[in-house]
Amino acid sequence: MNETNLSRRAQYHSKKPKKKRGGGLSKLIAVLVTVVILVSALGLFMWHTQEEKAKETFQAKASELQTSVQKDLEKSGIPLTPQTKGDWENQVISFLPTEENAAVDNLTGELDSLVKTAQKKLGDQLGRVIAYIDVHHVTDQLTEYLPTATLYTWNKSKESFTEKDFTSENVSYINQSTQQALTAADLFPERADLLGMFSVLQQKILDQSADGSKVIDAVLNLARPTTDDLNFTYAADKITVHLGENETGVSDVEIPFTDISPYVNSSFVDPANLTDPNAQLDPNKKYIALTFDDGPSAAYTPQLLQTLESNDVKATFFTVGENVSGNEAILQKILADGNEIGNHSWDHPDLASLATEAVEKEIRDTSKAIYLATGQLPHLVRPPYGSANAETAEAIGLPIINWNLDSTDWELQGNPSAIQQKVLGNAYNGAIILIHDIHESSVQAVPGIIESLKAEGYEFVTVSQLLGGTKPLYQYFGLYQGKNDSRLVK
Ligand SMILES: [Zn+2]
Repeated sequence: MNETNLSRRAQYHSKKPKKKRGGGLSKLIAVLVTVVILVSALGLFMWHTQEEKAKETFQAKASELQTSVQKDLEKSGIPLTPQTKGDWENQVISFLPTEENAAVDNLTGELDSLVKTAQKKLGDQLGRVIAYIDVHHVTDQLTEYLPTATLYTWNKSKESFTEKDFTSENVSYINQSTQQALTAADLFPERADLLGMFSVLQQKILDQSADGSKVIDAVLNLARPTTDDLNFTYAADKITVHLGENETGVSDVEIPFTDISPYVNSSFVDPANLTDPNAQLDPNKKYIALTFDDGPSAAYTPQLLQTLESNDVKATFFTVGENVSGNEAILQKILADGNEIGNHSWDHPDLASLATEAVEKEIRDTSKAIYLATGQLPHLVRPPYGSANAETAEAIGLPIINWNLDSTDWELQGNPSAIQQKVLGNAYNGAIILIHDIHESSVQAVPGIIESLKAEGYEFVTVSQLLGGTKPLYQYFGLYQGKNDSRLVK
């Protein structure tokens, strides 16, 4: 062996085993690494594909959602433009009116704050916030604008959205004719309507008070509203009148439209939330309203009530305020039996000859006495002698009920059969008959009147049942040819 061979061999030996050992391990590592890389890549690829698919599903559903909301909104008839903000994960889409609209402009700030609330709830989750002004036509004349933000949270496993609405208490009601916010003058077009609503409001304050007798003066002295200063909130089925701080201790009063149907402009109220203000009378029947003035009388009214009750007849009593004291139980029985009580002034003066303040006092004191006895304010007034002019009517502030058949019982005292003949000879469908329950002969005449009129097919009703809704500033005389005979007091 020469040196060269030896060194070659040495080289061979030194290299070969090294090569053999080292080459096997690295190959294995290389293979393993490759496998790991391939598996990871495949895994990553598959994960990525799944994520892509999930993202695509979400985006497709989100776009479907947007389209369907948009379609619903288009039904409002208001052209809307969607505005999109944010990343694909949690976009905010606001549908805002394309054209200028005062009603909606006032509500965009409100809408922004709803969006912020919804966005906060959504946080980092996948989803959408869709905001819009919900438009609802209450009537042809009245449109409701309600700012709404809906939060749609994506549920990945169900591949669907969970919905949650955020709505505002700040709703706008717009008169479609004026394109302005609904006003008190829209709702109560005549002063008579506003005064009618006010009388209902007064009773509501008393009903709401822990002890009405403590606030009755404050309630009766409450300033009457004007359409300029009436502060109210409209809702579909009621108004809430805001009185602010005042002597009655009640500042907010809810009045359902069903309680003020005769006074409210039906163009601005969903008919489902109104009652028919007309009397519910059968056109094939005949009706009579008996009215008894100047009482109550401790001597005669109880006997009269007995007659009415045993004949199942309802009537109306126009009470004189100074006669209430000591006769509270009689007033209570009048109402308990289903009759009606009206105000006939405190001491029976000719109201048209009095100053406004004096008229107001006559009415107020009597209403107070009736309320303290019964818990109910009278809502009808009969001025003594039927005497009233425009100023009297304004001072009275309640519907004025006169009559169209005078029994002239005050002239025919001591002669019950003459009173009967006077009534029976003149009775007709829709008559309001004037009788006085302070005269013995008048009360004695009543059983015969009831018996004969019943035999002729008449039904006896209260004034309110005969006339339906009645308005302040107007006077009523009964029915004429089946229709309310009402006239503005002049
Ligand atoms: Zn009288």
